[in-house]
Amino acid sequence: MIYRKLGKTGLKVSEISLGSWLTYGNSTEKDTAIKTIDTAYDLGINFFDTANMYARGEAEKIVGEALRKYPRESYVLATKVFWPMGEGPNDKGLSRKHVYEQANASLKRLGVEYVDIYYCHRYDPETPVEETLKTFDHLMRQGKILYAGVSEWTAAQIQEALQVADKYLLDRIVVNQPRYNMVTRTIENEIIPISEKNGISQVAFSPLAQGVLTGKYTDLKNLPEGSRATDPKANRFIEKYLQDDIIDRVRKLNNIAKEMEISMPQLAIAWILRQPNVASALIGASRPSQIEENVKASGIIIPNEKLQEIDEILA
Ligand code: NDP
Repeated sequence: MIYRKLGKTGLKVSEISLGSWLTYGNSTEKDTAIKTIDTAYDLGINFFDTANMYARGEAEKIVGEALRKYPRESYVLATKVFWPMGEGPNDKGLSRKHVYEQANASLKRLGVEYVDIYYCHRYDPETPVEETLKTFDHLMRQGKILYAGVSEWTAAQIQEALQVADKYLLDRIVVNQPRYNMVTRTIENEIIPISEKNGISQVAFSPLAQGVLTGKYTDLKNLPEGSRATDPKANRFIEKYLQDDIIDRVRKLNNIAKEMEISMPQLAIAWILRQPNVASALIGASRPSQIEENVKASGIIIPNEKLQEIDEILA
């Protein structure tokens, strides 16, 4: 496993990281979830991602339980705040009250004294950025969070946060967590250039387009058993990728993977990691064998002529 630096910080994260959305505490049995996290740890993944809202706290509990047996300094743990955790008017968003309460609730569910990275899961138009960043600063001074990040913020919102941090001499955000994969390349236009300029790394989520870029969906009328697409708890999220033209492109991309003697998921992850601004490709896995296959993408360099062929297929 190769480790990359997160933004301008001294923190090193595995270039492949493991998340827990829709899987742990949700569709994946607890025993399998823990075995999958253990496999990741054993194979050099040191970066684990969750969020308070994944299965309303249940994902954090499983991730925390799985990691508890390992030395705290041996892994980097990230969680997030923003989405509703209850029905009340203050049970969501990035207000001082909700962030403070949820940071403490996350630490309790995870069973740790601090998280390494705390993300604003989305931008909150109802709370001044200044209020949120000052709360993050307070949590840092209390030793409960070490680094600040945002997820799916626009370039303008990221710039606003940087200006507020500079004005009040607060720690800057050092990481952004956007959706980034072969069929969703929006961040290449604005987000990556602004991030490079300001020492912010990307942690790219859904690098496999929720499984579609593994090549296992070949026929939309015959979806593979045991996949996200056939899981009633999760299949609504994958629908946007289950389209004939995407499946057709994946078939062509799979030929490139075969020529390189690697698997399609490995090609999709290595393609994300060709971007120096990406610190980590944040995968999901419903079973240990997927981790075993996917970690082999670390260190694969896609030659320029193949990158060009890929661009033509994706154009
Ligand atoms: P991926 O694109 O990596 O999809 C993961 C899924 O693909 C797995 O759960 C599995 O699903 C399937 N899969 C993975 N590897 C293989 C393989 N080798 N062969 C066959 N199938 C495979 O990522 P996710 O969309 O799950 O997102 C990853 C993480 O990113 C999340 O857990 C979360 O932490 C984070 N995230 C953050 C968001 C944000 O707003 N900040 C939003 C979404 C995700 P199955 O076996 O069920 O088919």
